[in-house]
Amino acid sequence: PPLPAAQVRSTFLDFFRDKHGHLLVPSSPVRPRGDPSLLFVNAGMNQFKPIFLGTADPRSEMASYHRVVNSQKCVRAGGKHNDLEDVGRDGYHHTFFEMLGNWSFGDYFKVGGALYCTWVPPARVLPFGLKDNFWEMGDTGPCGPCTEIHYDHVGGRDARTLVNMDSPDVVEIWNLVFIQYNREVDQSLRLLPRFSVDTGMGLERLTGVLQGRRSNYDTDLFTPLLHAIQQRSGAGPYAGRTGTADEGQVDLAYRVVADHIRTLSVCIADVSVQSAGTCVMRILRRAVRFCIEVLKAPQGALASLVPTVTYMLVKYISHNASELGERSCLHVVPALQIMDIINENEAHFLSSLRQGSRLLQRTLSRRDYRDRLFPASVAWSLHRDLGFPLDLVDLMLAERGVQVDRQELDRLIAENQQQAGVSSRLMLDVLSLAALQRVGVPHTDDSLKYAYRLEDGRYV
Ligand code: ATP
Ligand code: MG
Ligand code: MG
Ligand code: MG
Repeated sequence: PPLPAAQVRSTFLDFFRDKHGHLLVPSSPVRPRGDPSLLFVNAGMNQFKPIFLGTADPRSEMASYHRVVNSQKCVRAGGKHNDLEDVGRDGYHHTFFEMLGNWSFGDYFKVGGALYCTWVPPARVLPFGLKDNFWEMGDTGPCGPCTEIHYDHVGGRDARTLVNMDSPDVVEIWNLVFIQYNREVDQSLRLLPRFSVDTGMGLERLTGVLQGRRSNYDTDLFTPLLHAIQQRSGAGPYAGRTGTADEGQVDLAYRVVADHIRTLSVCIADVSVQSAGTCVMRILRRAVRFCIEVLKAPQGALASLVPTVTYMLVKYISHNASELGERSCLHVVPALQIMDIINENEAHFLSSLRQGSRLLQRTLSRRDYRDRLFPASVAWSLHRDLGFPLDLVDLMLAERGVQVDRQELDRLIAENQQQAGVSSRLMLDVLSLAALQRVGVPHTDDSLKYAYRLEDGRYV
């Protein structure tokens, strides 16, 4: 029988802890603490940034770390590492995933550490460019040369004959980075006081390989969730189809919803809704649309998946719970409260969606837009007043066979850029603040809740 994901994780952690003297440390929350350069934690190394930079408080526990190992909750849905658009289209990019990693902080480096070979046959080398051979966490921060280890699901081939480098047959599973530099604000590279090793391996991808599955969605990290989605929807069972074979994009919807509900649960559990509001809200809205419009699930179905996610993740992430402590579990916001927050935001979104559709219909019925461009001012108002992400506005227009006056819309966007950025963020923050408040979760920014009030989907 295939190795369960929980065992894949524990085998990795135990190997570095028991055989190679690494300290097992907890995953940090997905909202980075004290690092404004990041929206979400996007790699295991993020929480160790002060160690790489040599700025860790000498009295902190972290200052004594030499070798550590962990499984880090990561979100790649914004910033430098943004995989949102790939989710569901391939079987191995998720917005939320766990990154297994081991580190040496000025301890072992190339020889004692990660590389055992001095020569690799050319048939085993993939000719990638700088983007894949130099790893960076964001616009600034620790970075260095890296090597990416890939798994070929086909096997027995000469790497030099592979033409399509984006083929889903060849999947990156592990990245080894030799952290030597810091990318400064002026984009220059500063050599760091000591050299470190940083590795990251996606648990979902490793599990896929070990369970002999091309798609991570066919592993035990996702199948219980896909089942739960089917039970709540009007769709047939998940069939793993992709591209044009996936009629009506039903299987795509399954994958997107399964991915997004994991991300939403983790982000809300880590109380990162307020500060990462816009991004989390975008994920929520995408999930709601796929759930209701494609999978024909009733309102509330999305939130009802939360217990399945939290059960799975608590069970998995709390591996070695006694050492990792409670911090690593999804415990900050309990499942019922996560569900309330999702339901409340879903209801609000659906009501804006109805208002938006009415506004669209009204506008379209007044005029024939077959040879004419749809007025940018109306598209803009969908975005500004009803909080629609602009890509959703585009999609809704495309579904009705009309095209927006792009030039004028771009002008409006540019004109309102600063103001709009701030106000839509505020609106979404107020929404989630209200939801958090109702379920009694403490939040940080009191000024917002007094400054704005929602009326008919507009905030005043
Ligand atoms: P890719 O080239 O496939 O997008 P990456 O080079 O961006 O991956 P790294 O930043 O090197 O990824 O992250 C380390 C490891 O984390 C990867 O080797 C992979 O196993 C895993 N990983 C990265 N992005 C994702 C994702 N979106 N979903 C699941 N696993 C991921
Ligand atoms: Mg990537
Ligand atoms: Mg890569
Ligand atoms: Mg990589």
